[in-house]
Amino acid sequence: MAEQDRDESLWRQERQEVQKNATEIFRLFEEHNPAPSTELVYNNDFTLLIAVILSAQATDASVNKVMTEIMERVDSPQKIIELTQDGFATFIRTLNIYKNKAKYIYELSTMLIEQYEAKVPLILQELIKLPGVGRKTANVVLNVLTGGNGIAVDTHVLRVSRRLGIASENTPEKVEQELYCVVPKQFWEKTNHWLVLHGRYTCKAKKPMCSDCFLRAYCQFFKRQP
Ligand code: SF4
Repeated sequence: MAEQDRDESLWRQERQEVQKNATEIFRLFEEHNPAPSTELVYNNDFTLLIAVILSAQATDASVNKVMTEIMERVDSPQKIIELTQDGFATFIRTLNIYKNKAKYIYELSTMLIEQYEAKVPLILQELIKLPGVGRKTANVVLNVLTGGNGIAVDTHVLRVSRRLGIASENTPEKVEQELYCVVPKQFWEKTNHWLVLHGRYTCKAKKPMCSDCFLRAYCQFFKRQP
C-alpha cells in the first residue's frame, strides 16, 4: 500500500473510532439527562438574547440576579431605548465588562426596531449581524428558542470535548466543525447543554471529578491518567 493510502486509511480508522466513542458518549448523556436546558432565566425571545449576551465572562447565577429586574422593567427593545444606554448600564453594573454589554444591547435594540420590527430574528445569518452577537451566542439562542441544531462552543464545550477526545482543535470555530463531523445529528440540539452542564458541575477546569463521572470509560483524558 502506498504511504499516502496507508495514511488515509489510518485517518479513516481513527475518525471511525472517534465517531463510535462520540455516539456512546452522547447516548450516555441522553440516558443521564434526557431534557437538558439553559440555566439562564428569561421571559421572551428578547430577554433570552440579553441573558446570553450578559453571560459572557459571567456566571449564569450572576446574570440571573440582574435578569429579574430586566424581565420586569425592560423586556423589549423599545424599553431599552427609553431607558437609555447609561440607564441600562446601571441595571447590569454588577457584571464584568458591563459598559460594553450595555452598549451592544442598546445598539442591537435600535437595530431590532429599525430592521426587524422589534423582534429577534431566529436565523443564524441575521442574528450574527446584531452588535455583540457572535456565532456562539446565536447558536445558543437558536438552540433554546427553536431547538436549532447549531452546536455552540464556549469554554466548557471546548475543554470537555478535548478531554473526551471528540475534538482536538483549539478554537471554538474549529471545534464546532469537528463536533459536527463526529456527533450523530440526532444529538446536536442538546450537545451544547450537555457539555456545558458537564463542564460546569463535573468536568471542571481545575479539578475534574473523574471518580463521579459516567463518561470515564470513553474519556481520553481519564485513560491517560497514571
Ligand atoms: S472522566 Fe474526568 S476528564 Fe473525562 S469527562 Fe469525566 S470528569 Fe472530565
